[in-house]
Amino acid sequence: MDNKSLGLLIKQLRSEYSLKIGKRFFQKDLAETLNVSRGYIGDIENGRTKPNDNLLEKIANFFEVPLDTFKDDNSTGCYINGTKLKQLRNILKLSQKDLSDKLELNDINAIKKIENGNKSITLNMLNKISNLFKVDSNFLYSNNRDAITTCSKCGLSYCPLDEHEYLKHVKYHNSYEEALIKFGDLYGYQEGESIQKDLIKFLKDDSIQFNEKYDKAIQLIRYYFNRSVRNNSYDTRHVNFDEYIPMLLNQDFFKEKLQENIYIALVNKYGTKSGLKEGTADYEIHEETKNNSSQIDTIAAHLEGKNITPKKMRLLEKYIDTLFDEFDED
Ligand SMILES: [Zn+2]
Repeated sequence: MDNKSLGLLIKQLRSEYSLKIGKRFFQKDLAETLNVSRGYIGDIENGRTKPNDNLLEKIANFFEVPLDTFKDDNSTGCYINGTKLKQLRNILKLSQKDLSDKLELNDINAIKKIENGNKSITLNMLNKISNLFKVDSNFLYSNNRDAITTCSKCGLSYCPLDEHEYLKHVKYHNSYEEALIKFGDLYGYQEGESIQKDLIKFLKDDSIQFNEKYDKAIQLIRYYFNRSVRNNSYDTRHVNFDEYIPMLLNQDFFKEKLQENIYIALVNKYGTKSGLKEGTADYEIHEETKNNSSQIDTIAAHLEGKNITPKKMRLLEKYIDTLFDEFDED
């Protein structure tokens, strides 16, 4: 296995371990456990260096995975949890033969062997399986049968072996993919979180040139946009990116993240616009535009055709409540 894949795998095992223990297990924690420096773990995870066999064995023992998981071999890569594969296959009502056809495997007994833990698979095959079932590859590694996994793409945490939760995720993930088509470039959940941290650090760095900072500021807006789409469960009624930019620029908390010249340049280009609730970066899709439309129409009729927007409608409702409160006091 090349350094990069190995690093990625160790990182995945670490993030899975975090889920298992219910709190973040940082590089620093792994470093302490293995009695090496945090920087060294960082280098390993980023593929800059490779641990020696002794350390690799310690890592395998710690995460309770077979040492073979890390072994390099042209035809084999890693062992996955066969029981999980079998359960996922049963949820989708696929026979071993169906699955082997879908994965284009020549050996018709391959699935049986994989499920019995007698056959390792390549990383490429692992990706195919995780795409097919829409579960993260780190979930397939785990030995913990009740493991909750967080989809690195749509960000949903769920237990893939519970049929209800499994199907819930598939539905959610499909919305994610639809949103991806509509809004483009929705990077994955985990990826997004680390991008955000880097960008904020970058924007504070005085040694960096204006143009570069400006680009990073756009990327940061993109991060908030993606998060807003995700927090709206990938509802495609969310505003587009171009419409979202002036809304975010209108928020004080966001303004504070930028240097003044960058902020001014962005406002000159995109302007500012209301649309987000103060202090939040999340757009709210107005359900009432659909559900309460008849109510709005009725009230509008009484007001001689005045244009009642959902916002005015909410104010009216508040006003009516106040009125009734006053009536009650009389
Ligand atoms: Zn997903």
